[in-house]
Amino acid sequence: MTRTLIQGATIITMDRQGVLPSADILIANDTITEIAPQISADDAVRIDATGCIVIPGLINAHMHTWQTALRGVAANWTLPEYFKKMHAGLATVFEPADLHIATLVGALNQLNCGTTTLADWCHNNRTPAHNDAAVAGLLESGIRAAFFHGTPKPDPKPGETPFWEVPHPRAEVERLMKAHQGRELLSVHAAVLGPHYSTLEVARHDFRMARELGVIASLHQGGGPARTPGGWQVLDREGLLGEQINIVPGHALSDDELARFCELGMSFSAAAESEMSQGHGHPLTGRLRKLGRAPSLGVDLESVLSGDMLTQARVALGIQRSLDNVAHREAHGSIPPTSTITATEALSWVTVEGARMLRQLHRIGTLAPGKQADLVLVRADTLNMRPVHDPVAAVVFQASLANIDSVMVAGQWKKREGRLLGVDLEPKLLALEASGRKIVGALGLH
Ligand SMILES: [Zn+2]
Repeated sequence: MTRTLIQGATIITMDRQGVLPSADILIANDTITEIAPQISADDAVRIDATGCIVIPGLINAHMHTWQTALRGVAANWTLPEYFKKMHAGLATVFEPADLHIATLVGALNQLNCGTTTLADWCHNNRTPAHNDAAVAGLLESGIRAAFFHGTPKPDPKPGETPFWEVPHPRAEVERLMKAHQGRELLSVHAAVLGPHYSTLEVARHDFRMARELGVIASLHQGGGPARTPGGWQVLDREGLLGEQINIVPGHALSDDELARFCELGMSFSAAAESEMSQGHGHPLTGRLRKLGRAPSLGVDLESVLSGDMLTQARVALGIQRSLDNVAHREAHGSIPPTSTITATEALSWVTVEGARMLRQLHRIGTLAPGKQADLVLVRADTLNMRPVHDPVAAVVFQASLANIDSVMVAGQWKKREGRLLGVDLEPKLLALEASGRKIVGALGLH
């Protein structure tokens, strides 16, 4: 048995133990066994974490990791441009090797940024070889991953069945589930079209499939007119909605729909920065909050923005505070007496809520005995962090990638003292650049 003792850190557990100002964490193999002010464990490998704040590993609940080689390409595109140039354009020239290198480097970057769990929403996978390549990238990276198997969205060629009329390829989801059954760090789910992007028949098939296979059905909702207006109501009447459904981002849903979906236990993921950038609208955060619920957060697109989840928490917090402040001023003619969203709440979106969305809150998302040892050491004795009066505020508002000192997944260090471990990055970055040049060049975009 390998035991690790992290000593002398400020620990933000996001769990029953709250925030401990100076404490130790004992880890045995992949599991946290104790968190206390002082732990003695003579046989353990000791890690001096003085000056660090320990947080649960961050959870990125929604990212199209296949776009890593296209960083910045879509930075100035709105959603209609993105559909045309990305899904009907650049996406069509991806070979399996492009999926592999993008997913591998994208996942390594997540680890580097303090993300220990990545929901990879992979919808540029026209053959099983594309899926295998993407999954291999996730496994090679060492991140904890949820592979959401999606389907491509090209413009239909003459005589071809358009993607919105094609039921989700169940056999491929089953093949992937079987191939990766029992893996500690990988789960397989379905990234389906849902009634906004498909016919009713397809949505019905896909929701039923997810329920029968026991996987999460995650879908995009919003952006242009729905393919099946009124589809949600039909699916609800048929009993096909429930906890297995995850909606991203969902702005156009009515208050009644939102209330009903919360009642059914469906989950919501926001990609605050991406949503605002591409023209979706404002994240659902405030509307969910009124219903006693909260979103998980995702980066969505590295082709638009940075993969850093702490930035996502800060952006999502900022926009919701702004909306709430403006609403208060309009209603009362004054600035509200205090802020609606706290730093702790924002941190919960990228930890607790991500775990809840993935239905793994019993294993990850907080620091507590019995849970998986997925954690991040945030260096706080630095120019941009001292003095730390409020550790949670310091992490959410002051910390950046420069402070992500060490990252552990399932008891294994993936990053220590600012460096990723066991990875020869340069050849991978060269391969990523070559892939990006090839894809962009094929479409003559640059
Ligand atoms: Zn998305």
